[in-house]
Amino acid sequence: MANRRGKTCRQNARQEKPKDKFEKVSGLLNIMRPCHHIIEINFPIKRDDGKYEMIQGFRAQHSQHRTPCKGGIRYSMDVCADEVKALSALMTFKCAVVDVPFGGAKAGIRINPKNYSEEELERITRRFTLELAKKGFIGPGIDVPAPDMGTGEREMSWIADTYANTVGHLDINAHACVTGKPINQGGIHGRISATGRGVFHGLENFIMEASYMGMIGTTPGWGEKTFILQGFGNVGLHTMRYLHRAGATCIGVVEHDGAIYNPHGIDPKELENYHIENKSIVGFPAAQAWEGGQDLIYEKCDIFIPAAIEQVITKDNASKFQCKIIAEAANGPTTPAADKILLEKSILVIPDMYVNAGGVTVSYFEWLKNLNHVSYGRLTFKYERESNYHLLESVQESLERRFGRVGGRIPVTPSEAFSKRIAGASEKDIVHSGLDYTMERSARAIMATAMKYNLGLDLRTAAYVNSIEKIYNTYRQAGLTFS
Ligand code: NAD
Repeated sequence: MANRRGKTCRQNARQEKPKDKFEKVSGLLNIMRPCHHIIEINFPIKRDDGKYEMIQGFRAQHSQHRTPCKGGIRYSMDVCADEVKALSALMTFKCAVVDVPFGGAKAGIRINPKNYSEEELERITRRFTLELAKKGFIGPGIDVPAPDMGTGEREMSWIADTYANTVGHLDINAHACVTGKPINQGGIHGRISATGRGVFHGLENFIMEASYMGMIGTTPGWGEKTFILQGFGNVGLHTMRYLHRAGATCIGVVEHDGAIYNPHGIDPKELENYHIENKSIVGFPAAQAWEGGQDLIYEKCDIFIPAAIEQVITKDNASKFQCKIIAEAANGPTTPAADKILLEKSILVIPDMYVNAGGVTVSYFEWLKNLNHVSYGRLTFKYERESNYHLLESVQESLERRFGRVGGRIPVTPSEAFSKRIAGASEKDIVHSGLDYTMERSARAIMATAMKYNLGLDLRTAAYVNSIEKIYNTYRQAGLTFS
């Protein structure tokens, strides 16, 4: 772009002294280091037994180089200021790596949701939302939370309703203040399973790549591959479903209260049904209890999938892992020191900022749907179906003009595959294909960077390079610091 003296940015950059250039680059990179805003909120709630309790929550906005900023809201006893700050930074890099045009944020309330009734959880969620809204920490154009550990559609629906009926009551886009909502509140088909589906695509992009599989001494493809899963929550369950469908075998599942093992495979649907009924995987009849509990994560398998909490793989246990691939479905499961050890062991780590980005990607689609006030496919469904039938008829007429109707009309019927698509893409189809495309495009970009800088198996560094470059360019072009 030309400035007032008619010089382009590139010409200016060329004339810059190296020292000035260094200052500018390091200045811009330093913007990305700290978390830009964090709020701590403490408020009382009345418990069902009449007692009062103080509740503590946080929202961190790491970067607003793009707005709104985006990130989950979790209910967990591990929540603290440092945790939300770190997770909000991860969200900034995650959004950039998959080209979701948002800054990074994260919220947490320091409770164990299992210890509260539904009514108590509703009071906590609504009050927290109101406090965030009063301080400018939620809004469709400012900051948009989503589900995370211990939260789901129900909580997102309370958040949307509270915002839309208070601070956002004059805003036609109020329901875009949060994603992961139920469909009848403006949610989108495919959001619940999006993170797990994204983990599957993320893994598949590398598992099908002969060069990467060669580097870790295995062959491309899903068949015969075994995996162990930690965390049978939203992300874990859906990841297990998609991997099972692709042909991989789940030989172990680890939960906070126990672990189960079956070398011949655990069926995700059966385990889901058992879990719904018993609120635990412990005692699942089609697998044996693993006496070592959490130690099951060290067992031999092709893929280990941490889908529960942070800091599962540390310098103290990294050397114990016997898997060939780790797909970080959870946020921050590997400490930096452990990451180095895994690299030395030639374990392929597919980093969280890429592999679990399916959730935020589909959240972005939901946000767009809310701003458009129309569901995907609604305007084109009928038109596409009719166009496709016209196309078939036109082929039929052309054939009949050329060959005549000898013995009756020439039948031109859609194939089975075309029949399924003849009515055009449903919202779910669009979401699935948008997610698949996003995961594939980002994987290619990560691979290209890893190759460019000769990073070998170090996909995390490659992903960071890609996202930092994008954020850097956004700040540079906006001239935020130096104008
Ligand atoms: P969830 O609450 O639905 O599931 C977490 C599961 O982990 C629960 O079943 C819990 O019992 C289990 N768990 C807790 N501590 C454990 C332990 N020590 N060992 C084994 N299991 C344990 O949460 P979720 O939404 O599935 O999120 C899981 C992880 O994925 C988190 O790190 C979250 O930040 C990350 N993530 C979630 C999303 C999303 O869309 N929900 C998106 C990206 C990343």
